[in-house]
Amino acid sequence: MIYLDNAGTTRLDEKVLKKMMPYLKEEYGNASSLHSMGQRAKESLENAREIVAKCINANPREIYFTSGGSESDNQAIISACKLGERKGKKHIISSKIEHHAVLHTIEKLEKQGFEVTYLDVYENGIVKLEDLKNAIREDTCLVTIMFANNEIGTIQPIKEIGEICRAKGILFHTDAVQAVGHINVDVEKMNIDMLSIAGHKFHGPKGIGVLYARRKVLLSNLIEGGAQESGKRGGTENVAGAVGLAYALKMATEEMEEVNARLTIFRDKLIKALLKIPHSALNGDKTKRLPNNVNICFEGIEGESLLLLLDDEGICASSGSACTSGSLDPSHVLLAIGRPHEVAHGSLRLSLSKYTTQEEIDKTIEIVPKVVEHLRKMSPVWHSLQKGERKYVI
Ligand SMILES: *Cc1c(COP(=O)(O)O)cnc(C)c1O
Repeated sequence: MIYLDNAGTTRLDEKVLKKMMPYLKEEYGNASSLHSMGQRAKESLENAREIVAKCINANPREIYFTSGGSESDNQAIISACKLGERKGKKHIISSKIEHHAVLHTIEKLEKQGFEVTYLDVYENGIVKLEDLKNAIREDTCLVTIMFANNEIGTIQPIKEIGEICRAKGILFHTDAVQAVGHINVDVEKMNIDMLSIAGHKFHGPKGIGVLYARRKVLLSNLIEGGAQESGKRGGTENVAGAVGLAYALKMATEEMEEVNARLTIFRDKLIKALLKIPHSALNGDKTKRLPNNVNICFEGIEGESLLLLLDDEGICASSGSACTSGSLDPSHVLLAIGRPHEVAHGSLRLSLSKYTTQEEIDKTIEIVPKVVEHLRKMSPVWHSLQKGERKYVI
């Protein structure tokens, strides 16, 4: 199979698995136990915390292990809002293209009386700093804007957003699940107060994540229990997961420059070739996007059928995020950048990884246009477009 769904999840690196194995086998001690086996587990856990901290320029005490990106998002947003509520501040600023882990958490808070401003991202998928400045109110307690989008790969001006928030004394959280391990992330330089990470998006294991929270941020206890993770998240620590995540992140950080140089060439080659298909368009900014993300709309076809046929041809791709693919609703991200419903349905996301090869790119460039053409031949919408009964949108 040609695996081009790396924004959905990535393959566990063999070397990461090797680092994890001892903790799944002989070194199974509970990191909270006082005996030597427990203490060895504790040491490995703290070592993992230090490695993660170093990769994003944080202090190890600001690193909390969680079950993944979704939990980190929930925890960050809920904590910031509880802090805000105590001061009578109940306004949140976010964007229209956040991951559902952020959007649904905010929607729940809206039902509890919080007010939310969702910033526009315009055609290129990027928020405007002017809009952020204008949206800030006396009672704004949190700005949560993702670092890089999981569907269209656009990268937000995080450092500048952080600067604005810092100047106003507003907490700034960023869902950096698609960014960490892929592009440079520095919580100090970028004025980030809270940040979410997921191990499985950079060749680490699933079910483990990190929430970075600056020391000034008092986290709520999302899970009551023991004193693990500074008392903020009860439950026996996932030592193997933490060790795996840390090692995967360290490797990704070291390999980043070399991998990205290659992926940028692959990405742009794919974009150039696929845009030769008539009535197709790139979703998201051409350059301010992740080196591994390609997202293109094809008019007159259904993304779902495209995925199934590509699967038959041995290509694993996606139409949007794994979460919306199961539903018939068009992606909220594509609607936010102004794609009409019928076009948003015909989208294809190809997300690459360090394992992606030149041959796989060439094969994809050969197969996708054929499948699109095949689907258009059978599409009533395409026929009416061709006959002029409907107007092309792209
Ligand atoms: C994958 C993803 C998440 C969710 O992470 P999980 O570890 O699957 O919970 C959150 N945000 C973004 C941007 C993602 O891509």
